[in-house]
Amino acid sequence: MDWAARTAARNARLEVSRAVTEILRLTERPEVISFAGGLPDPSAFLLEEFEDSARRVLRERGGEALNYGPTAGYRPLRRWITERMAGREGIQLGEENVLVTSGGLEALNLVAMALLEPGSTVLVGAPSYLAALHVFSSHQCRMLPVPVDDEGLEPDALEEALERCGADDRPRLLYVIPSFQNPSGATLSLGRRRRIVEICGRYGVPIVEDHAYADLRYEGDPLPPLAALSPDGVIFVHTFSKICAPGLRLGWVAAARELIETLVLCKIGTDQCANTLGQRIVLDFARRGAIERQLERAVPLYRRKRDRLEAELSRRLPGVIRWSHPEGGFYLWLRLPEGADSESLLERAIAEHEVAFVAGPPFYAGPGGREFLRLSYSFIAEDRIEEGVVRLSRSLSSCRGPAA
Ligand code: PMP
Repeated sequence: MDWAARTAARNARLEVSRAVTEILRLTERPEVISFAGGLPDPSAFLLEEFEDSARRVLRERGGEALNYGPTAGYRPLRRWITERMAGREGIQLGEENVLVTSGGLEALNLVAMALLEPGSTVLVGAPSYLAALHVFSSHQCRMLPVPVDDEGLEPDALEEALERCGADDRPRLLYVIPSFQNPSGATLSLGRRRRIVEICGRYGVPIVEDHAYADLRYEGDPLPPLAALSPDGVIFVHTFSKICAPGLRLGWVAAARELIETLVLCKIGTDQCANTLGQRIVLDFARRGAIERQLERAVPLYRRKRDRLEAELSRRLPGVIRWSHPEGGFYLWLRLPEGADSESLLERAIAEHEVAFVAGPPFYAGPGGREFLRLSYSFIAEDRIEEGVVRLSRSLSSCRGPAA
C-alpha cells in the first residue's frame, strides 16, 4: 500500500504543524533551554489535593467514573461550570448551554465540524494560536487574517475585511483570543471588545471566543469576555488546561442550546464523551476550592517569571524591540532587529546555542511573522531564564555576523 501517496494531500495542508512537532521534539533534549512550549509550571499543581480528589472519586463512585458518560458531559460538572461563569463573568447560562470537551482544542474542532465546510471563510488574528489555524486548515477553510497589534485584534481592519468580502462571501466565523493572546500576549481593551462585538453583530458573523488564559491575570483590571457583551453572538471556549492541568484533557464550550445540540452530535464521532474519570476528579477538586487556590499559587509564579524574563531581555538584548508587555498568560512576543529571520535564527539557536523558542511564521495563516518570535516563560525554571536569554543573545549576535 502506498501510504505516502494516500497521506500526501493531508500532509501538505498540515506542513506548519509538522515543523512545530519537530521543534517540540528537539526541545525534549535536557541540554536545550526551551522557551518553546506553552506548558504550565508543574510546581503550581496542588498534587496532594488532586490525589485526595482522585481517591475519593474512585472509592465512592469508581464504577461510574471508569465507565462511559453522557456525551454532553457529567451533569454536575456542567452545573459547576455555569455557576463559575455566573460568578466570575456575570454570564447566566443553563446546563443545556454547556458541553464538556476533551480540551479547548477539541472544542474548536467541534465548532468547526458544526459550522464550517470546505472553502468556508474564517477570520483569524495575524498572528493567532497555531493549533486553531491547524484546525481550520484541516477543515479546508480559507483563512482571512486580521492584524493583531499590542492591543489585540484591530477592529478597523476587521471591518475592512468584512466589507471586502461582501454579502456573498460572508465569513462563517471570527476566531479571537481576547486576553493574553497566544502568541502575542496582547489583550483587547474594553473599547475594542465592544467594537468587535458590534461589528460582528452588524455583519451577522458569529465569534468564537477563546478564553484559555484569561484567568491568569497578574496585573490590571479584569475585562468582560465578549460573551458577556453579546450573549447570543459568541461561542465561548474555555479549558481546564491552564486553570487546573492539561493532562486532564478537559475543556468546555458555552453557547446557544441549538448549537450545543449539534456539537453533541459531532462529538459522537470524535470520542463520544470527554474523560469521565477526569471530569469527576476535577469537579471534586473544584468544589473544594482547589482550582482557585491553585490559581492563587500560579499567578504570582508566572508574574515573577515574566518580570525576570523582561529584566534579562532589557539587560542583554537591548537591540530587540519588545512588542507588548503581557498582563497575564504565558507568552512574550519579540520583534527582532531589522533584517533578522526568526526561522533561520531558530535553527542556529537550537543547533549552536541550545536554546529554543517558536518562530513567528507558524502563527500566521498567510505570509508573515519572520521578524517575530514567541517566548513562553510558563514552564522554564526561574533560575534558567537568565542563561536562556544569554544564549538567545548569542544566537542573535551570531546571526547578525561579525559586523553586528
Ligand atoms: N486556546 C489557546 C489560545 C491555547 O493556547 C491552548 C493551549 N495551548 C488551547 C486553546 C487549548 O488547550 P487544551 O486543548 O489543552 O485545552
